[in-house]
This record gives sequence, C-alpha cells and structure tokens, in this order.
Amino acid sequence: MRILVIGSGAREHALVRTLSLDPDPAELFAAPGNPGTAELATNVDVEAEDGAAVAALASEIEADLVVVGPEAPLVAGVADAVRAVGIPVFGPDAAAARLEGSKAFAKEIMAAAGVPTAMAHVCTTPDEVAAALDAFGPPYVVKDDGLAAGKGVVVTSDREAAVEHALACVRRSRRSAVVIEEFLDGPEVSLFCLSDGENVVPLAPAQDFKRLGDDDAGPNTGGMGAYTPLDWVPPQLVEDVVERVARPAVHELLKRETPFVGLLYCGLALTSRGLRVIEYNARFGDPETQVVLARLASPLGEALYAAATGELESLAPLRWRDDAAVTVVVASPGYPAAPETGGEITGIDEAEQVPGAWVLHAGTGRRDDGALVSAGGRVLSVVGTGEDLDAARAVAYDALARISLDGAQHRGDIAAAAAAGAVVLPAAADEG
Ligand code: AMP
Repeated sequence: MRILVIGSGAREHALVRTLSLDPDPAELFAAPGNPGTAELATNVDVEAEDGAAVAALASEIEADLVVVGPEAPLVAGVADAVRAVGIPVFGPDAAAARLEGSKAFAKEIMAAAGVPTAMAHVCTTPDEVAAALDAFGPPYVVKDDGLAAGKGVVVTSDREAAVEHALACVRRSRRSAVVIEEFLDGPEVSLFCLSDGENVVPLAPAQDFKRLGDDDAGPNTGGMGAYTPLDWVPPQLVEDVVERVARPAVHELLKRETPFVGLLYCGLALTSRGLRVIEYNARFGDPETQVVLARLASPLGEALYAAATGELESLAPLRWRDDAAVTVVVASPGYPAAPETGGEITGIDEAEQVPGAWVLHAGTGRRDDGALVSAGGRVLSVVGTGEDLDAARAVAYDALARISLDGAQHRGDIAAAAAAGAVVLPAAADEG
C-alpha cells in the first residue's frame, strides 16, 4: 500500500507519523511535506492546490490512497482531480468541501438538515450589516463567508470593530458576503467524524484553543493548542453529535448528489440552550489532530482507506488508548498578524528525550547549512502524553522548555482548566 499525504503542517506530520506506526505500515509520501515528514516519508515538492499536479504525482507513484490535509486544496478541487484518475481519496470533492469553503452554504445545509446552529444573517450591504448587528446585539459575531485560515471570525462587543470587519469582508470582492450571527455561550468541542459518503464513524472529541494568549486573550489564530479526552462532556455527547450534526449533513449532501467522503469536523458549542454547531470543516483540524491521533490504537491507514472506498460499514470499531494527550503550539514572533520567520530552532532532540513527548513540524524549513529555521506562523506542535491531563501537560511543557526559537510565542494554559476539573458547562436553559 502507498499513501500520499497532501499538506505541510503539523496535522500532516501527525498523519504521517500515525500512519508510520500502523502494524503493517504503508509506504508514505508527503507533498510538499515539511522537515518532520521527511524523516518518515518521501517528500515531493508539489503545489498542494494544483489538482492536475497532485493527480499526476499520485499516478506516478502508484498511490493506493491520497489523504488531503488542508482545506484550500479541497475547496480548489484537488480531490476531484485525483478521483478522476481512479485513485481513492480521503477528502471531499469541491462541491462537498463548500461545507467549509462557504459559511453561507454551511448554514443552508444545516437549515435543510435541521441541524442546531446559531441564528445567522448573510449580509452583502452596509445596511444589512447594521440591521443584523442590531438584531443580535453584543457580543457581535462576524464571519467572513470564505476561507480565512481560522482568522476570518471576529467576536467583539465593540460595535465599531464589528462593523469594520463586516465591511472589510463585504468589500473583499464583488461577490463577497459576511455572516453575522447570534453569540453562543458555553465551552467548545471539536468532534471529527470519518465519512464514506453515507456512513459516519466518530473519533475521540477534543478541545482546541483558538485565541493567541492565555485566558483566551488576544486575536483568533489557526489554533494554539489542544487536548483530549474531555472528561467534562456529557456521556452521550458523541452519539448526540453523530445523530444530530454529522449524519444529517452527510445525508443532506448525499441527497444533493455531492457525497462527503473524508473528515467531517464538527465544531460545537455546548450552550445553555443545548448543542449548537459553530462550524463544519471538511478536513482534520489542526491542532486537534495532533492529540486525537496520539490516542488512536487502531490502524489509521485502514480507517482512512475504508472511508475513501465506501467501506466504513465493515470497519472494525475503533480502539482508543486510555491515556491523555496535550499539544502546545510554538508560534513565530508577530503571529498571527505579521509572523517573523527565519529564526533558528534548536532543542527538538532534547525535547523528544522527555518520555511520552514528540515534536511535530509545521512552519519549519532548512537553511542551506542544514540548520532548522522557522518558515511560517505556527512553527511546531509539541505533543505530550501521560496517564491523565495533568501528566500529559507536564510532559508537553517539559519538552517545550527544551526548545528554543527567539521571540517564539506559546500559551501556558493549554488544558489547564480541564486538568483542574474547572471547565464548566453553562446551566441548562429551557431547550435541549
Ligand atoms: P469559526 O471559524 O466559525 O470556527 O470561528 C472561530 C472561532 O470563533 C470559534 O472557534 C469560536 O471560538 C468563535 N466563534 C465562532 N462563532 C461563534 C458564535 N456564534 N458565538 C461565539 N463564538 C463564536
């Protein structure tokens, strides 16, 4: 078996690493990959969003499966191009990837499928923006309709800032829209589901940390850390999400003849009025993947292949390790607004000496002299595992302390509240 993983982040390094640990591991390729995947797979330099180039590469290496990591290639139709040459793909066609590519489309699917979500208005003019902001009141939630790498959402009580972001989204191009929606209280949960177009298999729930600073201060980012398991969620949550959120969307897309094959990421808020969808994504989440896969005990390659080939029904139930996993993202100075790159990174080998720790590469590169340097906003994802969240946190932060990159940023409070048993669900209001 040969598997080609598309992408170059810590998520893709986590996928490659987990695939490499399968009992009968596939021969692995990563395109374009990063210095971390290079140690476990053959990196091939290809433009990840170029469907024709990816399909040609998959044919040339005789791949049995292509796994698309990031959203941009999916929205650009890379999965369509690979399917067209007859190679199974884990990742939806462009039509189904619109679930992530357009927040307005996602809202339409949720409405048609009866999925609980925030009430929202899709606006294209300043008057509509003003009316929607007034209708919902503060805190205002303003979302760019299109892809923005997790940075298109502004949640603020400052009306002027809300208007400014909304108008910037609307003005981006002639057909741009902005989604303004009701604020959802309560903690967030990410649940990944494998889908073969019809059947849905959930993975373990995780929580990520979107804001840059401790205590959720600062701007939204691509994600600064994550952990699993979530001892504080109601026991029936996973089943509930599968029945009320994942399956209805998958069936709605099947009905529209645009089946969703790949990873359906359900971003949820557990609000005082019950479960609500914040967003769907069409691929593995980064950084949640780094912790969810750390606990997967079943072969990943088999599961992804079953989803890609419409065989999820016959996949053996997934097995999970009882331990906990925490990941802390190391970001460049200036991230997310203006990341400074080119800084030398040292200490990864020392970090990996910590039992239960490993380091996943994201925005890293090699200088001509071979030194490892930062090459993007999020640079590394340091993973710690242990018997519980406290232990996993200690491992992750011990490992992280051995890494040096001038001016690097990280959060010090990843999984801290959960480890202390301090994540609180809002008191239930009248609706489930
Ligand atoms: P999204 O790109 O839709 O996942 O939004 C990014 C982040 O913004 C989410 O993870 C939430 O933290 C926050 N957010 C999005 N929508 C809402 C909402 N309706 N109410 C409160 N926070 C939200």
